Amino acid sequence: MRKDVRILLVGEPKVGKTSLIMSLVSEEFPQVVPYRAEEITIPADVTPERVPTHIVDYSEAEQTDEQLSSEISKANVICIVYAVNNKKSIEKVTSHWIPLINDNTDKDSRVPVILVGNKSDLVEHSSMETILPVMNQYTEIETCVECSAKNLKNISELFYYAQKAVLHPTGPLYCPEEKQMKPACIKALTRIFKVSDLDNDGILNDNELNFFQRTCFNAPLVSQALEDVKNVVRKNVIDGVCDNGLTLKGFLFLHTLFIQRGRHETTWTVLRRFGYDDDLELHQDYLFPLTLKVPPDCTTELNHNAYLFLQSVFDKHDKDRDCALSPEELKDLFDVFPYMPWGPDVNNTVCTNDEGWITYQGYLSQWTLTTYLDVQRCLEYLGYLGYSIISEQESQAVAITVTRDKKIDLQKKQTQRSVFRCNVFGDSGSGKSGFLQAFLGRNLTVSRQNTVSEEHMSYYAISTAYVYGQEKYLLLHEVFPDFDVLSDTDLACDIVCLVYDASNPHSFEYCARVFKQYFMDTKMPCMMIAAKSDLQETKQLYALTPLEFCRKHKMPPPQAFTCNTADAPCKDIYTKLTTMAMHPHVTQADLKSSTFWLRVSAGATVFAVLGFAMYRVLLKQR
Ligand code: GDP
Ligand code: MG
Repeated sequence: MRKDVRILLVGEPKVGKTSLIMSLVSEEFPQVVPYRAEEITIPADVTPERVPTHIVDYSEAEQTDEQLSSEISKANVICIVYAVNNKKSIEKVTSHWIPLINDNTDKDSRVPVILVGNKSDLVEHSSMETILPVMNQYTEIETCVECSAKNLKNISELFYYAQKAVLHPTGPLYCPEEKQMKPACIKALTRIFKVSDLDNDGILNDNELNFFQRTCFNAPLVSQALEDVKNVVRKNVIDGVCDNGLTLKGFLFLHTLFIQRGRHETTWTVLRRFGYDDDLELHQDYLFPLTLKVPPDCTTELNHNAYLFLQSVFDKHDKDRDCALSPEELKDLFDVFPYMPWGPDVNNTVCTNDEGWITYQGYLSQWTLTTYLDVQRCLEYLGYLGYSIISEQESQAVAITVTRDKKIDLQKKQTQRSVFRCNVFGDSGSGKSGFLQAFLGRNLTVSRQNTVSEEHMSYYAISTAYVYGQEKYLLLHEVFPDFDVLSDTDLACDIVCLVYDASNPHSFEYCARVFKQYFMDTKMPCMMIAAKSDLQETKQLYALTPLEFCRKHKMPPPQAFTCNTADAPCKDIYTKLTTMAMHPHVTQADLKSSTFWLRVSAGATVFAVLGFAMYRVLLKQR
């Protein structure tokens, strides 16, 4: 909302402008007034909308045309005053004042105008009959009011309307010609309805209405008031109330009614609470809270409450309870977004069910990925879902955990992170994509079917792996094999995978080159993957065999891998990678010693069985 409001009074001489201002200030009619009142500022706490308000008088006798023009362009709202007993002053409203105001203001940012008929004490009849056609003709006229500076009638109302015209303009909300809300307003209110409809049944029940009321107006409706509201809707619209709750139709009707009755501040309060600005766009401050600082070597993750919220969003849209989002369910979920955030590539980034629909697990994984790679975007998305409102938090930023500096993790030899990044290197055709897709449970046939076109391709795969009973996310990123374009982000990760095609004699050399150039002198844990192990292994054209190379550089031996399986490929390798990523301080000597896997599991005695299983798996492979 605005910081202050500047009200300008204009009109013919002697209509009572100065008297109106003086009457407001002194609460009595001044017998003698100057030509022009001094500019006054009403402090915020005594105005109804709690905004400092400046009231500016105009006098033809004391001011030039230039001064008038400048005041018009500075004003936030202009009161054109006429005297109800003075026909000429009424005619001048349209012949002089409105055109003058239009000449001095931007076409785009029109100033609201209020028509003020003063001296109502002097006449029996009302001037409204003459004024209403004028109102209909000029959309910039917000409202009109008759008042009397002499018997103080409607004086505070007049200034309240003026303030309201600035703070809660009807222009963006309502089209007076068509007597209905404007499309942008309907769109915003529809989104608000959907966010507030917590169980997504298309009806706001009493609980949801109370929650809505509490978030918007800090007070629940008493049950009688709730019934009254529903009765008004029932009487006026068919299907406005259903199963004793408010439908979208009823909700929109209610707001139309507020606006038509001049209570549009109610609608504005709702809109602003849900993050909308004066143009009915979601406010940048709402979508992109600035409080989040992510220092280098730190990553961003969603915290427990954010996962709970996302889980509830999933549940409310998984109508058939199959733990996956069908295309319709997904579309419905993102209906509160201005655009569809997930493209077809997402289906190849996370787990899907047999029909190719994103599962619950896949849905949370994708959110985890967005949070990790682009936290601003994640905040924006949470904003569309109304996270801060529904979870009653100050901003979306509380959903994010910024992890501690990785250097500290390394020092302390433990980590609180739950997302680990593994960058996958390998020459083209070495089997990287198959390696990524296998993590999502897809064998070669399935992943080939899924990625027929470029827009379906994904260079990320994310899912969970259990390390000693703890669920962790492993994010695999396929690095484009062009040596010259490797960037810092290609190199920054928690573990590196070097993939070669065991059946292609030229494939290993690339891995050896990447390792020697980028990782040999670092502490980065690296793992060699011998892909396509279902095919006949050939001798690699390199000075050392892959096994010798790994030994020389204190890496674990190459891990045979194939995704050319009948069922889902084996997932052990991903657990192994996650474990290594979590314990980067562990040296290769440690990895080889059979006691290491027992040691890392110490403290997690509950999961000792699992740890033991892992130990066995590793032993077997040696
Ligand atoms: P301005 O030139 O528009 O600022 O008008 P003034 O405030 O100087 O008022 C012009 C004359 O109208 C003065 O004699 C006021 O006393 C008188 N006047 C102002 N408001 C009212 C009103 O509400 N009723 C009556 N009867 N006289 C008014
Ligand atoms: Mg005056």
